[in-house]
Amino acid sequence: MSMRQPVFILSDDAERTQGRDAQENNINAAKAVGEAVRTTLGPKGMDKMLVDSLGDVVITNDGVTILKEMDIEHPAAKMVVEVAKTQEDEVGDGTTTAVVIAGELLKQAQDLLDQDVHPTIVASGYRLAAKKCQEVLKDEIAQEVNIEDEETLRKVSETAMTGKGAESARDTLSELTVKAIKSIADKVKDGYEVDTDYIKVEKKVGGRVEDSELIDGLIIDKEKVHPGMPSSVKEAKIALISTPIEVEETEVDAEIQITSPDQLQNFLDEEEGMLKKKVQKIKESGANVVICQKGIDDMAQHYLAKEGILAVRRAKKSDMEKLARATGANVISNLNEIEDSDLGSAGNVREKKVSGDDMLFVTECENPKSVSVLVRGGTEHVVDEVERAFQDALRVVAVAIEDGKVVAGGSAPEVDLALKLRDYAASVGGREQLAVESFANALELISRTLAENAGLDPIDTLVDLRSMHESGDMAAGLDVFSGEVIDIWDAGVVEPLRVKTQAVDSAAEAAVMILRIDDVISGSGSEEEAGGAPGGAGGPGGAPGGMPGGMGGMM
Ligand code: ADP
Ligand code: MG
Repeated sequence: MSMRQPVFILSDDAERTQGRDAQENNINAAKAVGEAVRTTLGPKGMDKMLVDSLGDVVITNDGVTILKEMDIEHPAAKMVVEVAKTQEDEVGDGTTTAVVIAGELLKQAQDLLDQDVHPTIVASGYRLAAKKCQEVLKDEIAQEVNIEDEETLRKVSETAMTGKGAESARDTLSELTVKAIKSIADKVKDGYEVDTDYIKVEKKVGGRVEDSELIDGLIIDKEKVHPGMPSSVKEAKIALISTPIEVEETEVDAEIQITSPDQLQNFLDEEEGMLKKKVQKIKESGANVVICQKGIDDMAQHYLAKEGILAVRRAKKSDMEKLARATGANVISNLNEIEDSDLGSAGNVREKKVSGDDMLFVTECENPKSVSVLVRGGTEHVVDEVERAFQDALRVVAVAIEDGKVVAGGSAPEVDLALKLRDYAASVGGREQLAVESFANALELISRTLAENAGLDPIDTLVDLRSMHESGDMAAGLDVFSGEVIDIWDAGVVEPLRVKTQAVDSAAEAAVMILRIDDVISGSGSEEEAGGAPGGAGGPGGAPGGMPGGMGGMM
């Protein structure tokens, strides 16, 4: 028999946590993320004031915004933050909901682990439950909606905005939301495609939120390049030019030797002639408005002004694309090939002062496939939060139209899912049954939190909700304003189906992933080894030990 030597596979300074310790640590971190945003859930949720290292202040109750600003380092906590980001990317709303559910799934799992249920059993029970939720949501809970149903769409928008800074002007903004979305929605084979990127949201501090307006075209934060140009052009023919209107630089480094004043004059005349010709080309195409993505030479500006053409320069590329869609123009990259058919049209292009700054309004576009919304508000913080709420609203309405499905809010779907999961649990049997039941409990945290944040008794509310649902009232939800459990459709609280399907799915996925980890090894964190790998769990701050300081302060 040979002597066994211990084998070391990790370097001395690598940190390692294993088994229950690793699980506890990860679960606690993930739970902490859920706890951090829980108080902001629902219309009566509180806001957070986030101050970054430069002293910049963000006031918000938007889950993903809070988590992005929080600079979270714990690797498991980061996985929960990912849930919020996925939710934001896929749906644009429901980020707090997703994170709260993820945190609670892990908290419930902890109880099961304490009762010696193996983590893989919990994980597979959670998977079954999540799958069941998708079925119930899609087949039993969701209701149809179509693009002509403006009333429902406005409710979807209002629900997403309630409780945010935009609340006071909810009606105005919801009307803008639905109009904007309807004008850019593309009809495709079996439904609609809605790309909210084609709605440009321009913020301007000043005025009231109610003064926000929809522009059937584009607003560009630029002014005309020459005072001699007209400030307003009716029946505009617009040339979108992506190259500079300047003297072309030679490809090779040329040096021109000038020995007499005459030669200099000739040279300048030549240059002037070139610019004049470019402007002539534009003029001949019939354009009376030029939007240039690059620079416009002073001399060219002069000639454009003389021709009565309104021009702006250094427009953003994204604006060029939107302008093309709004006015029907083609972006021109070679001035010699400019043609009448490349030009876009707009009934009115004018320069207008908004709170002291000149902006260009390209409006009265015939069938604008891209529109703008000018968001106003008393202070920068207000405008920023209104914009965030408005972006959420745009996304949820877009998603509702794309999927053609909505659900009631006020935690009606969550209570219904919980009820059906408990029925389903019995058919699952075994220890997994316990996990399915835990999943149901986790979903009910949404009801309890909505109640708590509204200053109501969470237990009483939940009992009311359960009994209504048990008696078959699937639309019973908590109206946080009256504090009553009522038919929540009637209260006008409506959300797109995808908010819920996505939240349940990504919360479950993250929880399962975290549960399956029983060994956390973090590298020694030396610079060379890290090799610039982004977001690595290594490094001194990434050790799976304590919570980062910033997080503790948030709760
Ligand atoms: P999230 O980031 O998850 O969207 P919110 O703070 O926007 O978080 O809160 C969303 C929750 O608030 C949803 O469950 C929604 O149904 C609920 N809600 C919205 N308006 C009302 C209302 N008037 N009464 C009750 N619940 C509401
Ligand atoms: Mg929301």
